[in-house]
Amino acid sequence: MDELDDGAQLRCPADGILMRDIDGGWECPECGHVIAPVVKIVMPPAFRGPTVHGG
Ligand SMILES: [Zn+2]
Repeated sequence: MDELDDGAQLRCPADGILMRDIDGGWECPECGHVIAPVVKIVMPPAFRGPTVHGG
């Protein structure tokens, strides 16, 4: 798939400044407000063994 669009950039809820993406979230370069999304995609450990029988 393609990357994130520029239009998906968040804006600071305090002053509306375009936030910059940091490690694990976004930070406002103006006031230092940080938004850290708590959405974590956890993949369940799918345990599927090979059920192929020879013959
Ligand atoms: Zn701000």
